[in-house]
Amino acid sequence: MEKYRHIGFKLTPQRIAILDYLEGNKDHPSADDIYKTVSKKFTTMSIATVYTTLAALKERGAVLELTVDPDKKRYDPTTESHGHLICISCKRIVDIPGEHQLELSESAKQNFTVLKSHLEVHGYCPACNNKNLTVAKEAVNVRRS
Ligand code: ZN
Ligand code: MN
Repeated sequence: MEKYRHIGFKLTPQRIAILDYLEGNKDHPSADDIYKTVSKKFTTMSIATVYTTLAALKERGAVLELTVDPDKKRYDPTTESHGHLICISCKRIVDIPGEHQLELSESAKQNFTVLKSHLEVHGYCPACNNKNLTVAKEAVNVRRS
């Protein structure tokens, strides 16, 4: 909560509830995820409030908007530079802490002014990996029987 205190926008109870939900959240929730949880406590909460609060936070650099999930924008209260592991099956997004600079070739560096880069690694999370293995094993068993 402290980090949002000087953010310079009116902290209504509804906005505080959204900030509380985001604080320390490692799940990279979508606006819908935020709405579903916060509106349980705040029945008057509207999805519009979630969107306007997220837009205000984004504008002030207090939340990152991630476009790594093709289905929906995801939000990240961890604003320090870090990368992401993205499960293409369950859409789970996990942080890769620390700076991860891409090594650009000399010609690329000459021809392009880099402002920012973001490491995204797409694949399967442990849970989906296990599921895939189970499905593969079952398929083998079916073929054998
Ligand atoms: Zn997964
Ligand atoms: Mn993150």
